[in-house]
Amino acid sequence: MTPDFENMVWTCPCCNQQRTDKYIKVRTHDISVLMGLETGTAFINCKYCIDMPGCIEKASNRDWVIEKFKPNLNKGI
Ligand SMILES: [Zn+2]
Repeated sequence: MTPDFENMVWTCPCCNQQRTDKYIKVRTHDISVLMGLETGTAFINCKYCIDMPGCIEKASNRDWVIEKFKPNLNKGI
């Protein structure tokens, strides 16, 4: 049985809305240096809505993404 990815639902961290998989993409930010690590070893993956300019803007903004995901960083991802 093939998983039905099209109907998978994700919560966009930019707008906090639940969207189906086809409207969600992931923007990856390299945060290694901030973590005191070698470049290319630590990343944040931020989901965003591909049809919402506000979400694209937030997901592309590294400072916003870091601020948003900071609680998780402190737990050590
Ligand atoms: Zn969104």
